[in-house]
Amino acid sequence: MKKPRKPDIDTVGDHIAWSYANLARADAALQDESASYQRIHHIIRSKLFSGLKKGTMAMRSLYDDERIKMTAPKACCYCGSEDKLSVDHLIPRIRGGADDSDNLILACRACNSSKQGRDMLEWMKKKEAFPSILLLRRYLKLVARYCDDNDLLSIALSDALQRDLPFDLSLLPHVFPPLAELSLWVCPPDAHPLKPQVAFLGLIRFRGQVS
Ligand SMILES: [Zn+2]
Repeated sequence: MKKPRKPDIDTVGDHIAWSYANLARADAALQDESASYQRIHHIIRSKLFSGLKKGTMAMRSLYDDERIKMTAPKACCYCGSEDKLSVDHLIPRIRGGADDSDNLILACRACNSSKQGRDMLEWMKKKEAFPSILLLRRYLKLVARYCDDNDLLSIALSDALQRDLPFDLSLLPHVFPPLAELSLWVCPPDAHPLKPQVAFLGLIRFRGQVS
């Protein structure tokens, strides 16, 4: 595989966009049931990144993610367990995460008590785990929305990293685990694997998006 060119990442918006574009590339490869990234997957990533950066493309709203949440098997979004489920704030409430449905997912008791008030990526990093594609997508959208609402998208990433935010921007992944270790969604062992059609682009444009 050719080594991808390093993208220009200056602002918070670029940083989120590159993570999101890498996520879309991984999703495309998983949907194609491809064992490795093909040229088309790299093209998807670079087109999406440059579109998001220029403001000609935008992340989709959380509508699809909510729809998937309603149809997915009732199980922990982190491990697939169906044991003693409760709701978990993806971005912890204690850190300023919203109490609305976009920020709420199902978690089993074991994951809930292990995660506690920690941010999802911080907790997963500690466990040396990686979220499913759709869970990370929801998370990135929440981060993007927060940054948009707080006029952070166009500020320098280096400045934003000094701020106290409800999440740790430095943990947004740019490098993903190998495809064989990624899953679209975590399902209980006896459930049919969830295979929704996932769209990464839409018409919702963030307020602060620079063109
Ligand atoms: Zn769990």
